[in-house]
Amino acid sequence: MGTASDIKLIDENGLRIDGRSPTELRPLKIETDVLERADGSAFIEWGGNKILVAVYGPREAYPKHTQDIEKAVVKARYNMSAFSVDERKRPGPDRRSVEISKVISEALSAAVMVEQFPRAQIDVFIEVLQADAGTRIAGLTASSVALAAAGIPMRDMVVGCAAGKVDGKIVLDLGKEEDNFGQADLPMGILAKSGKIVLMQMDGDMSQEEFEQATALIMDATKRIYEIQREALAGKYRALALERSGE
Ligand code: ADP
Repeated sequence: MGTASDIKLIDENGLRIDGRSPTELRPLKIETDVLERADGSAFIEWGGNKILVAVYGPREAYPKHTQDIEKAVVKARYNMSAFSVDERKRPGPDRRSVEISKVISEALSAAVMVEQFPRAQIDVFIEVLQADAGTRIAGLTASSVALAAAGIPMRDMVVGCAAGKVDGKIVLDLGKEEDNFGQADLPMGILAKSGKIVLMQMDGDMSQEEFEQATALIMDATKRIYEIQREALAGKYRALALERSGE
């Protein structure tokens, strides 16, 4: 979150710097099966974010000491490419990417039926090609689609979404300027059907009332995002059906 600034993020008509209303999401598009070698893959464009996800597994966890005899280990690796931001990002893992990988791994583990695959590992590679605020929730949303596209049994889909506070107002899905100069950002991961919260982090400050307002905005948007996830997967299965009927 940025410090106090002269930048006006909400205009006199209540519209945001990119013309959105407080409850409007940035444009969101998901595509599956963009990579041939992965067991499942997805590409998400959300606002200016462009993120590719590749899923491999379940396969035997290696090294062996990382195996869990009762369930599969879901291992997400979030990586920002050097060219994904305005200033070149130093390549390789840093504290931020290790943290994001950990929270995404935990969120996905709650959705995957991990108990069906003891001693296995499911790898989820999240490559941020272009970053524009909200990459962790966009990466999480795409990962869930890539896991489903890989045919991995899941009890629910994970939907990522954020809300935040800019110019003293609670708004949905912060853009880059709002993230830089706003007062708070609340990224969340929700299980689509059960509504269970599987990821929640907060940067900045909100009152209890603002927090409840932000959570309500996220919960409502989750339904729209889940539809887009389902459509992306339906596209895949429609394509599969066509392939079969042509055999
Ligand atoms: P998220 O992308 O999940 O919102 P952050 O709040 O940490 O995560 O980052 C907000 C945005 O700041 C990112 O989406 C990206 O546009 C930018 N950003 C993050 N890390 C860097 C970095 N190392 N260099 C330049 N920009 C960065």
